[in-house]
This record gives sequence, structure tokens and C-alpha cells, in this order.
Amino acid sequence: TSRDSEGAHRPVSKVPAGGSSQTMISMTNVQKHFGDLHVLKDVDLEVPAGQVVVILGPSGSGKSTLCRTINRLEPIDSGEIRIDGKLLPAEGKTLAALRADVGMVFQSFNLFAHKTILQNVTLAPMKVRGKSKADAEKRGMELLERVGIASQRDKYPAQLSGGQQQRVAIARSLAMEPKVMLFDEPTSALDPEMVNEVLDVMVSLAKEGMTMLVVTHEMGFARKAADRVIFMADGAIVEDDEPETFFTNPKSDRARDFLGKIL
Ligand code: ADP
Ligand code: MG
Repeated sequence: TSRDSEGAHRPVSKVPAGGSSQTMISMTNVQKHFGDLHVLKDVDLEVPAGQVVVILGPSGSGKSTLCRTINRLEPIDSGEIRIDGKLLPAEGKTLAALRADVGMVFQSFNLFAHKTILQNVTLAPMKVRGKSKADAEKRGMELLERVGIASQRDKYPAQLSGGQQQRVAIARSLAMEPKVMLFDEPTSALDPEMVNEVLDVMVSLAKEGMTMLVVTHEMGFARKAADRVIFMADGAIVEDDEPETFFTNPKSDRARDFLGKIL
């Protein structure tokens, strides 16, 4: 099929250097209930390394729960989740190690209020990854540069704007050298003028080949950076397609209805 001007963003070269394409996230027959509520209904999802997946769907459809099961903030009832081929266990050391491979950025930035910006990005690499302070600070400063916030290194979170705090939250996740980044409505709590500074960081991350799962209502981001759009309704994946196909030709009534409301 012919591509439009967005064609430059297709995932042609999004394969890890020196390796063949591998599956980074794999969910198989995943079931999850909250009491009587069947919140994930037999979810199957395979995300190859380097792919950027945008998850859309009405409120309550299970998008956040799906993300949270991937680093086991939510346990699942049955099924299997693998990160880079390794089975996500219920608990224990292996779980801690696999969790460290999955970065997560939420709507609320959740920075450590009593730590400086630099301390926020160096703490976990030192504690969990065993990095020296010097190494953690060197890498931390590189990441703060990258999200455009290096000059704020000695400030505290409350001294920064929401957009700046969310960029620090992204840097903090990246400091763990994750294999996968999950974003759950990362711009929903921001004032409108700060949305783009956060999306720009996410777009650059996407272009560098990070495997990303992004729940967002920002259709501009979906069109610009997504390789794939997944539409959820009532705990099930209802559509799974390329962005242009999804936006121009949704197959289900539910997706058409949803797009009619947000576009
Ligand atoms: P979304 O992110 O798509 O809005 P969620 O995954 O947050 O959807 O929620 C899916 C459904 O599960 C909703 O009906 C929500 O009320 C319910 N739910 C989410 N978390 C819990 C919980 N901890 N306990 C009980 N019900 C929950
Ligand atoms: Mg949600």
C-alpha cells in the first residue's frame, strides 16, 4: 500500500542492532476479574521489540488494568505474560528483576517529593541496579539533558511545572534501562500548554526504537508515532490495526462510535 508523509515513521529498521526481531511483550489468554467484574477477557497481545502500540478505548474498558498486569502491579487470574521471553512470575526475585525491565509512567507523576530532581533519577539505579553514585549521576544527567531539564537538577519536584515533572518521571524510568516503557495517560493531568513538551519526549523515544505501550487520547501522537493501534472495549481487544487503517476504516461499531466522540 502507498504511504503518506508519515511513511518515514514506519518500523522498517526497528529491530535491535545485531539481532533478529524478537517479541518483547507477550500476553496469552490473560484473564482478570475484580470480584464479579470480568475486566480482562482472554487477552492475547504480542508486541515485537521496538514497536509503539497506542491503546485506545472508552473509560473503564480495562486499558490501565492491562498496563498494570504487565509489571504485575495487578496479578492476573490465569494466562501468561512474558517480558522479552521470560515468564512473569507471581512473586520473588525474578519478579523484581523483570519489573525493573518495565518502566511505567502514570498520569500522576509520583516523584519523590523530598528528593531533588537528580536524586529522583539516581535513587533506583543505585538501589536496584547496584550502580555507583558517580555512574548513576552521570547517566542521570544524560537523561535529564535528553528530556531538557538538566538545569533543574537541584530543585525539588514541587518547584517544577507539571510538564517538567512528567519529563523527570520519564527520565527516572529510563534510568533503570528498561526494555519496555508503559505510559498510562501521561498527559491527561497536564495543562494543555504542557502536553506537547511531554509528547515530544515520547516521540523521540519511539524513534530511537524503544518498545512502548501508550494509553492516550492524543490522536496526534497516535498518528505520528504509533506503529499499531489497539482498541479495547469491555475488557477485550476489539481492534488491532495500523493507525491509518484504524482511523480511516474502523471495523467495529464500537470503534466507530468511540472515534466519532473523540475526533
Ligand atoms: P480504563 O483504564 O480503560 O479506564 P481500568 O482498567 O481502570 O479502565 O478499569 C476497568 C474496570 O475495572 C472499570 O470498571 C474499573 O472500575 C474496574 N477497576 C479498576 N481497578 C479496580 C480495582 N482495583 N478494584 C475494582 N475494580 C476496579
Ligand atoms: Mg485508565
